Amino acid sequence: MSSDELLRLAKSVIQSIDPKCSFLSDETLELLNSLFPEKLIIAALDLIDRKNVIHYVTSWGHTEYEVIASTDTSENTIGTSTSSYSVLLDIQASPMQYSCSCLAFLHSVLRLETHLMCKHILAALIARQMNLTIERPTNPDELAVLFMRQFPILKGEDISDSNASQSHNLDEAQNL
Ligand SMILES: [Zn+2]
Repeated sequence: MSSDELLRLAKSVIQSIDPKCSFLSDETLELLNSLFPEKLIIAALDLIDRKNVIHYVTSWGHTEYEVIASTDTSENTIGTSTSSYSVLLDIQASPMQYSCSCLAFLHSVLRLETHLMCKHILAALIARQMNLTIERPTNPDELAVLFMRQFPILKGEDISDSNASQSHNLDEAQNL
């Protein structure tokens, strides 16, 4: 089966989830298991359980998702930077209909094509279907802050800093 067909199948499985249901049926889990590695599904469901999938909606109708990295489990993160990834779903006019700012997406999905999607995208797709995203209206300023956090290179951080976040992202990639 081509990856296009697999994706279409994955989409229809996710769309078949009953939004009123707070858990996945055995049948859905079985179907997902036939499409994705079990580790990826467990990681995605864990992100949803932790309420780590945030849905931003702007007044002009732009919508995007932020998924907080699963490696950060501490509760007291106020004032410190928590790593998070920007997920876009339903991108029009692109053969790849979604994207994620994590390294695993770049490496395993785009470059090696060994995975259909990363855990962040899977988490966002399932959370959206089940209405389990945390809704957060946002304005242009907040959106800018979000971008700065997700793409720290824009802040002009020095090289040692970006190296540190690079190795962190590599850990994430192995974690896929
Ligand atoms: Zn990702």
